[in-house]
Amino acid sequence: MMRAMQRLSFRHILTPDGMLHDHALSVAGDGRIVAIEPVAPASSVRYDGFLALPGMPNAHSHAFQRALAGHGELPGGDGADSFWSWREAMYRLAAQITPEDCVTIARQAYSEMLAAGYTSVAEFHYIHHGVDGSRSSEMSDAVIEAAAGTGIRLTLLPVLYVSGGFGAAPTPAQARFVHAGLDDYLALVERLRGKVALGIAPHSLRAVPVALLRPLLRDARALLGAALPIHIHVAEQQAEVAACIAEHGCGPIELLEREVGLDRHWQLVHATHADAGERARIVERGAGVVLCPITEAYLGDGLFPADAHHRAGGALAIGSDSNCRIDAFEELRWLEYGQRLRSQARARLADRRGLGLPLWQGAVAAGARALGQPVAGLAVGQHADIVVIDARSPTLAGHSIATALDALIINGSARDVASAYVGGRRVAAAADAAAFDRCVRRLLG
Ligand SMILES: [Zn+2]
Repeated sequence: MMRAMQRLSFRHILTPDGMLHDHALSVAGDGRIVAIEPVAPASSVRYDGFLALPGMPNAHSHAFQRALAGHGELPGGDGADSFWSWREAMYRLAAQITPEDCVTIARQAYSEMLAAGYTSVAEFHYIHHGVDGSRSSEMSDAVIEAAAGTGIRLTLLPVLYVSGGFGAAPTPAQARFVHAGLDDYLALVERLRGKVALGIAPHSLRAVPVALLRPLLRDARALLGAALPIHIHVAEQQAEVAACIAEHGCGPIELLEREVGLDRHWQLVHATHADAGERARIVERGAGVVLCPITEAYLGDGLFPADAHHRAGGALAIGSDSNCRIDAFEELRWLEYGQRLRSQARARLADRRGLGLPLWQGAVAAGARALGQPVAGLAVGQHADIVVIDARSPTLAGHSIATALDALIINGSARDVASAYVGGRRVAAAADAAAFDRCVRRLLG
């Protein structure tokens, strides 16, 4: 049954055109904003909250990796602990997860997202097959169930994974990820069509031979439409760039441009080691970059020059990737602080509006494009996906509304979030911490 129209009133609302004061959002039964109007004189209004921000789209998540947070660390000093050793730990976990485990872990991850500024998520999902190798959509269905259970908005990105490295066969540890070919993968996409918003995700140029990309795009667009988002991990590690140059004579982003042509539907996840020519090409083509600063630091990937890319007009979305720490405020803080550390200068992503406002607005707009959903801000026609900040939050002590976003980026976290709405519907905590603990102990024990 269609819900009735509702009104949500806030003291302050951050819209794409700036901050409104004492306004209400009218939300239609389908969860879209249909009007934003001043409320009646304050004395007669019961506000639904103090400061309404557009919910942040989380443009890159592997929900199951939430179970590994803090577990992949090896004794240091001898170089044994690296991105690749962490990947081995992740593979051991991925080999065992059942659909029930996937629901439990993803519920925990998605609940933490909703508590910490995110209201939608692009799930880059690559554990496809049963523990016994059986083919079904059960693992994807588990992700969909977890998202529905928590209320977070989902774009599911079923991942195509074919090879174990440039020109290498997959390893047994990758068996649950691997499709025999395009038909096998597209059969999964067809099973998911109509259940949830979809994009596609060739895992990386390590895992997908570049010759497969053209037929992949042709067939996926025939199934899902021309506007579908396309996500790929790219240039995350220098070893990957070196292997691509050895095999193809150019870096991975140049290779994508040469073989398929980038456009605004492409989302390049990490792009850490893109060279200057590749970064210029990304901006020219209007492709998005998805940065995951906490995970990129956690894995020791390196640092994308986000400040220069932003100044050149490039779109930057954020993702929580490994989910070793889930907090939209903290993700943006790391995005800014990484640039400060590299450049030995402050205010790298700020403009005349300050730091927090352009950071939050920019990541929301870029994230909406990455998810392929109308979640680009609190404006008519967009979904009413809202993060409400508590007026009594000590983070805002001494601040006027003009500097509230700066305060949240420098000092904010989940503790400042009073409530969250997805499509105008208030979300309630849905995780079961005890079940999550039992699940992780069994899987890692
Ligand atoms: Zn990733």
